[in-house]
Amino acid sequence: FVANGAVLVEPGWRYYYPYHESEDRILPDLKAGQVLGIEKFETESKTTKPPGRYGQARLIKVMEDLGLGTKSTRHEIIQKLYDRAYVHGTPIQPTKTAYSVVDTLEKYAKMVVVPDMTSKLEGDMSDIADGKITEDTVITESKEMLDSIFDDLVTNKEKIAEGLRDGLYTDTVVGPCPECGADMVVRPSRFGMFIGCTNYPDCKFALSIPSSKYGMVIVTDKVCEEHNLHRLMIAIAGKRPIDVGCPYCNHLKWEEAEKAGNDPVVGPCPECGSDLVAKMSRSGGRFIKCTSPDESCKFTLPLPPPRYGELVITETTCETHKGLHHVRIAREGARPWEIGCPYCSFIELQKNKENSKGKGKGGKTSKKTGAKNKKATARGRKKGDLTDIAGIGDAIAKQLQSAGIKTQADLAAADAEELSGKLTKVSTKRITGWQSIVQPQTSA
Ligand SMILES: [Zn+2]
Ligand SMILES: [Zn+2]
Ligand SMILES: [Zn+2]
Ligand SMILES: [Zn+2]
Repeated sequence: FVANGAVLVEPGWRYYYPYHESEDRILPDLKAGQVLGIEKFETESKTTKPPGRYGQARLIKVMEDLGLGTKSTRHEIIQKLYDRAYVHGTPIQPTKTAYSVVDTLEKYAKMVVVPDMTSKLEGDMSDIADGKITEDTVITESKEMLDSIFDDLVTNKEKIAEGLRDGLYTDTVVGPCPECGADMVVRPSRFGMFIGCTNYPDCKFALSIPSSKYGMVIVTDKVCEEHNLHRLMIAIAGKRPIDVGCPYCNHLKWEEAEKAGNDPVVGPCPECGSDLVAKMSRSGGRFIKCTSPDESCKFTLPLPPPRYGELVITETTCETHKGLHHVRIAREGARPWEIGCPYCSFIELQKNKENSKGKGKGGKTSKKTGAKNKKATARGRKKGDLTDIAGIGDAIAKQLQSAGIKTQADLAAADAEELSGKLTKVSTKRITGWQSIVQPQTSA
């Protein structure tokens, strides 16, 4: 047994800072070997907690220790896992597909999943660079290694396919169908992904998934308590994922708004003069739409989806777009999101998009508005672009990008010597020069 006690002997800094009172814990006066009586005892059952999930930094460290990837490729490797929906969230969480790929390969082609092969090859690469071994040795060795792996893969083809199918299926199950109770699964359609009932065609219940065209739909392990359906996320390559929430909750909100039928009027349509109204979309989005008879005018404007908060149409109207009311999103527990004139804000958004892409890729509406509103101020280049650095033109930026350097932060983190090897006619010294610009001088 161990017991700890503490007594304040000298006040020290506490003399000047009395607000934090020290607590004396005085131990009873005991002697070694003294026999004590038991006053009371309790038994408690507790379980040990599983170790925490890895964040990206931790995973990179582990990869480094295992000799997987290089300084400049590790980030990219992890990003690929996100982009292909093998993992999601922070800390990193594997999807069912990831589990089944690893489980299946572990069973039937073990060499592929153990880090030894990759780290051996990485080691061989640097040995070639150092002149310790010849390319031929490594190539012969690799051929033998791959041959044995392919033997495994070919022999177990059927079993591997089966294992992967199971994993891929569980990753698409959203939960019980609200109409018939069968599994609802994520499925592709001509218009992107949707959620269909596995009891189709007997049950035709289906739910749409907003923004599914922008990325991969991930069925998270968070469940809507009301509907027992898994919440969804859209993973977008290189961007923050979109939290879609419970697809049935979205659907019910839309139904309610549709039933109420009193869509708020935002102002006159700039194209035809009919009323513009704010509407919910079936898939949980929100937008502004023209109410022209027979839908002859197709004018629409985007709005943040309802999950961000309630739409408020203010008294203020736009100077440029006469009669169009400014709008804001009232957010619970946060300052309201002032959008202002929804048309002006849309034009601004398109401008920014075109600037950051170089070329406009917007739809029909954006082209029209672009031509009409040359007055709208264009924002300068986004800070953080590689080309913001003196000495980096478009050609070098392109080279850097294909070497995996996409942002100034990537450049700052890169190994100058290694990077120089990947570029044509760019010296290590030049790279360290750029890095000194990117990395802010640390001040004392
Ligand atoms: Zn059903
Ligand atoms: Zn729900
Ligand atoms: Zn219109
Ligand atoms: Zn406006």
